[in-house]
Amino acid sequence: MQPESQLDRVSNRVQAMKISPTIAMSERASAMKAEGRDVISLSLGELDFNTPESIIEAAHLAALKGLTRYTAPDGMVSLKRAVRAKMERDSALSFELNEIHVASGCKQVIYNALAATLDKSDEVVIFAPYWVSYSDLIEFCGGTVVVVHTSAGDGFLPDPAKLAEVLTPRTKWVLLNSPNNPTGAIYGRERLRQLAEILAAYPAVLVMADEIYEQLTFDSNIHVPFLQAAPHMRDRVVTVNGVSKTYAMTGWRIGFGAGPSWVIAAMAKVQSQTAGNSCSVAQAAAQEALSGDQSLVASWRTILETRRDHAIGILKLSRWLEVPQPLGAFYLFCGVSRCIGARTPSGAILKSDIDVADYLLSHAGIATVAGEAFGASPFLRLSFALDIKSLTDACGRIVEACDKLVR
Ligand code: PLP
Repeated sequence: MQPESQLDRVSNRVQAMKISPTIAMSERASAMKAEGRDVISLSLGELDFNTPESIIEAAHLAALKGLTRYTAPDGMVSLKRAVRAKMERDSALSFELNEIHVASGCKQVIYNALAATLDKSDEVVIFAPYWVSYSDLIEFCGGTVVVVHTSAGDGFLPDPAKLAEVLTPRTKWVLLNSPNNPTGAIYGRERLRQLAEILAAYPAVLVMADEIYEQLTFDSNIHVPFLQAAPHMRDRVVTVNGVSKTYAMTGWRIGFGAGPSWVIAAMAKVQSQTAGNSCSVAQAAAQEALSGDQSLVASWRTILETRRDHAIGILKLSRWLEVPQPLGAFYLFCGVSRCIGARTPSGAILKSDIDVADYLLSHAGIATVAGEAFGASPFLRLSFALDIKSLTDACGRIVEACDKLVR
């Protein structure tokens, strides 16, 4: 614990900020592992695969060739060209280079966009369950978070009527995330069109479409870019994406955004006075990832789908859990309402999903993230991006721990 006098010296904005709950849970799991406990973490949002060798080689070669200096603040021209080609190839969307922004991860792209546009009391609409960082980033940038809830019964899809209820002249952004973290929901073309229709009455509202899981869709589900469903909104949509999830490159920290040139120019200004630019060598790696052979992604998708089905098969054996089938991304967002009010073997009553996550960690050595972190309770998010043996073990231990609960 820090002494209070030191905490007081931290800015109010940072005092109000949470440490990312997914990172916090992962750190707890690592600390327990370091103490010798047998812990399996299902808490982090990253693939267990290695970055493909061709990408690593491209980075190595770039460094040897002297690509070790500052780059343009919001990305090397060659990488922006690769982003442009990728958007044309995968989404049939065309952008000029001055409509493309590169930063250190999709997280920083989102931060730069919010920092570049939000003034005090500007409102940003997000749909719960939402990715943990949205709310903190919005508040850090001075905005006000407006949460619209979705329901498991509606497949966690954003309800256009509910969006209409919260839009005001102060709304600056509406943030959409499909495929969704944590629910795996995919917003179909028709739903996106309906959302766009509601937004037609608010021409000043910007839309941020976070499409970072676009390549990770299962069964016959396909990702529809928001701009494809609403091409007439091109002058107010910023699409954000990155290489972290598609190419197992979370540590390289490269994300990108594409949108109206005035927003992109403002984002470049933020970047020039903060990070300066993203790592030059990582940019070369991202360029290779986006332009090189894409076949590995399809094979990873198949592996993830098998793991998803396997995990669901085990977890469904428990009468304590509700386990919907995600259409994309690599998380199960399990309902744990039946666990609430139950008694653990040590006699404690589980009062919230945080208690359930704590119980699973302390009793079964399984790290998960409570739905509360995503603005929706009582749920647990479990990542299935780990090898099938560990996944089998983890799911089995969850079912066993739940079986020990009594009412
Ligand atoms: N958006 C969503 C929905 C995410 O789940 C994540 C990471 O978990 C990000 C953005 C940020 O990704 P990165 O900063 O690694 O590119």
